[in-house]
Amino acid sequence: MTLAIVGGGLAGAKAAAEIRERGYDGPVVLYAAEPHLPYERPPLSKGFLLGRDPLDSMYVHDAAWYAAHSIDLRLGTQVTAISPADHRLRTPAGEESYTRLLLATGAYPRRLGLADESGVPVVYLRTIEDSERLRTAFADRPRVAIVGAGWIGLEVAAAAREAGCAVTVYDLTDLPLRAVLGPEVAQVFADLHRAHGVELVLGTQVTAANLHAADLVVVGIGAIPEISLAQTAGLQIANGILVDAQLRTSDPDIYAAGDVANHDHPLLDRLRSEHWDNAIEQAKTAARNMLGADEAYDRQPYFFTDQYDFGMEYFGHVGPYGYDTVVIKGDTTAAFRAYWERRGVIVAAMHVNEWGASDEIRASIGTTSKG
Ligand code: FAD
Repeated sequence: MTLAIVGGGLAGAKAAAEIRERGYDGPVVLYAAEPHLPYERPPLSKGFLLGRDPLDSMYVHDAAWYAAHSIDLRLGTQVTAISPADHRLRTPAGEESYTRLLLATGAYPRRLGLADESGVPVVYLRTIEDSERLRTAFADRPRVAIVGAGWIGLEVAAAAREAGCAVTVYDLTDLPLRAVLGPEVAQVFADLHRAHGVELVLGTQVTAANLHAADLVVVGIGAIPEISLAQTAGLQIANGILVDAQLRTSDPDIYAAGDVANHDHPLLDRLRSEHWDNAIEQAKTAARNMLGADEAYDRQPYFFTDQYDFGMEYFGHVGPYGYDTVVIKGDTTAAFRAYWERRGVIVAAMHVNEWGASDEIRASIGTTSKG
């Protein structure tokens, strides 16, 4: 049985490890389009961007690990087609067969035509090369315009301020992160950035004149799932690759995990999560299922961010039904917790700088009110 993993990012590398940890010792091939060993992306907008975290600290495993575990890692190898009917895939080097396959192809940044046409240097942050380019540009202390006040936009804003750049952030919504956090906690992040000297221009469409006032534009307006292989293979697609609770696609021998997977979560609505923890944990479940298990992936979402001296963790999912109340405990300029509640039940919770409380906060999801 040959297990093929397409996509050498976090999910792909974690799936390979799980397959070996479960004792499977047959052929495992990991196809990775990028030239780098599979790496974690969070430092690209944080420590690596600021020159604090070295490159090798981001690798999921070092090169020796792949050799020691007999993972056939094909760096710089893009899979160009999959044929589910005859269990074959194509790379520029030729055709190969697989028995079961995992699609862990991730996502790529949504582009903004206005920025691309502005003539001002533009960075979209997804890869090591993007982050290195940004770091080099920061050295000249440019005036940075950031389009998009989401996680990446705000993390880059924090890093740019730390690097001594003047920063303006533009977003259509009236508060950064409003869609995820709601207005109460979104306001905390707006205040945090203003306190650090970021100019927030909110509730309005960015213009060409805005971009021309900058030396460098960073666009962080979301990511698009990399579905092209799945689509041409005839798999079911809708905002990513559709997978069932067990992370199986519409083809019984093909699974998907990580940013690309639109998952039928047993406890929540259909969900495509673009977060580090989801990539790791979905990959592990998919790997076990490829080996014959039949596990539903029912983990509550989790993500983290670091901005200035705010370290935050968020658990759960408010989802399309929203929340009735948010209970905030602590000092929102230093360390606090927030609990989002619907009908008296906690659906999501977070903390800033209360690391010792992580487990307790995670365990609060699904329990009754903190109010
Ligand atoms: P990816 O990491 O995108 O990996 C997919 C890989 O597949 C890529 O290397 C791609 O080149 C390759 N590939 C695609 N198509 C093919 C093909 N046909 N053949 C071969 N290879 C292919 N999450 C958090 O929770 N907290 C954070 O603080 C955080 N910070 C982030 C900061 C940045 C700048 C970015 C970009 C993301 C951040 N994330 C964070 C999100 C997290 O990094 C992603 O959720 C995670 O990387 C998803 O892993 P993945 O393996 O699904 O996809």
